[in-house]
Formats: sequence, C-alpha cells, structure tokens
Amino acid sequence: MPLKELYISGKNRLIQSGIENPELEASLLLSITLDINITDIYAHPEKEINTDKVSEFNQLLQRRIKREPIAYILGEKEFYSRSFIVTPKVLIPRPETEILVEETLTILKEISSPSIIDIGTGSGCIAVTISCECENARVFATDISLEALMIAMENAKRYDVLRRVSFICSDYLTSFKAKSFDIVLSNPPYIGEGDLFGLEPDVSDFEPKLALLGGKDGLDRIRTIASQAKRVLKNGGWCILEIGAGQSERVLELFEESGFNYISFAKDLSGTKRVIKGKWIR
Ligand code: GLN
Repeated sequence: MPLKELYISGKNRLIQSGIENPELEASLLLSITLDINITDIYAHPEKEINTDKVSEFNQLLQRRIKREPIAYILGEKEFYSRSFIVTPKVLIPRPETEILVEETLTILKEISSPSIIDIGTGSGCIAVTISCECENARVFATDISLEALMIAMENAKRYDVLRRVSFICSDYLTSFKAKSFDIVLSNPPYIGEGDLFGLEPDVSDFEPKLALLGGKDGLDRIRTIASQAKRVLKNGGWCILEIGAGQSERVLELFEESGFNYISFAKDLSGTKRVIKGKWIR
C-alpha cells in the first residue's frame, strides 16, 4: 500500500473515533512504525509499504482508538523542551507542571549551591529538568513506586545528570534529616476520588492511580507535604507545589496553618491558580 494511502486511512479512522489531533497523531504513529521522520511522509507519498508494516500501524491505531494516550504508545513526552521516556507506570508530564519548574528556577537564581527534593518524581521530569537547568543544584527525587524510579533514572541518564540526582524509594519526608533542603517541591496526586471518572478516559483508564489520586478531597498528599516540609526545610527555604483547579483556597489555609510565610500562587494559561509557594522562616 502506498504511504499516502496508509496515512489517509489512519487519519480517517482517528477522525471517526473522535481523536482530537488526527493528522498529527496519524503521522506520529506512522513515523514510529516505519522509523522515519514525519516530513518523510509528505516527501515520499508514493513509497510502497509492506503488509507487515501496515498491520503494525493498524495495531498502534487500534491502541489509540481505545484511548491509550499517544505518549504511552510513542514512549515519549516532551517537557520543558526535552523528550522524556514515559511508560504506563508514570504520569505523563503536563505543560502546567512547567510553571512549577519556572517558579523553582526563579528562586534558585538567589541560592548558590541549592539542595532540592522532588517528592513523587514519577518520570523524573521535574528533577531532571531542574538539574539540567541549574548545574550547581543537588537534587533528591523520591517515589514510592520502584518502577517509576527506574524510568526517572533512565531519563536522568539520557540527559547526563545521573550523578547530580539521587533517587530514593520513599514515601514523603520522614526519612530525611531536619533542615536539609532549600526547596521541597512536588506535583502530588491531587484528584479527589469522586472526580476520577469526570476525567478523559485517556487519563482515568490508563494513567497510574497512584500518581493521580489524593484521597477523598484530593488534598491528602498536599496536607502531608505541607505539614512535613517545614522540618526538613532550612530557614528561608521554600515549599512549592502544583495543585488542582479549585483547590487554591483550601491549600492556602493548609499553608497558613503550617506556618508558611510569603505565600503566593502562579497561574496557568487558563488563569487557574496552579502552583503555590510558601517560605519557611523560623
Ligand atoms: N513529578 C511527576 C510529574 O510532575 C509525577 C507527578 C505524579 O506522579 N503525581 O509529572
């Protein structure tokens, strides 16, 4: 079958299934099936594709039609201009999380040899990005999932920061020494249990529940981090967390109760308060 025909049939199947970016996704799936660049599809439309490759492409299309996220099928997702390895064991990095990275990098400019901990590192997208962007930072990245940590380590290796990021299989901050970090940060699971099924099936059926769910109201993990962070923060250190839409007031209260100062929010592109930060001064 000619390449162009295969592409069009794939695109049409994605359109019929209501997939949002059918052209882009059909070309991405074709490019990994044939191990070519997307531009080759348009450059050599007449190229003859053998039946094995046609059926390989159809299998990938079928996975996408069943709503498996394109990032899991491709095994990659871009975050802060770098491509990260992703598998169904880790959350797919989101553009909103780049705001948390930006906020952190701004604070890091003021600190000469900062020590940072990323709780629930998942793919490692935050820890690895910070380590790449700030070479003098000492980064610790934790996750309760050993499988996630293995992916995060692969990503650190990919960007040559494995020596500067320590990966630790741990839940929260209890195993760390007091006053050891300049920044405690996390993109914690913050979806409330009842809200899971309001999400796109791509998310609710495929992404790890451990990385999504934060208890009944979604705030369980945020509560724990807000209360544990102050013990491990140095004087003048910051706690920076990504939060869910509509959680800002309750999280503000939690930060105030924990005794944080200079609390502020950063908004995402849709104007939602997405990241909270607070300073610990004893
Ligand atoms: N830190 C990872 C990310 O931001 C994983 C977060 C999570 O699993 N909740 O993508």
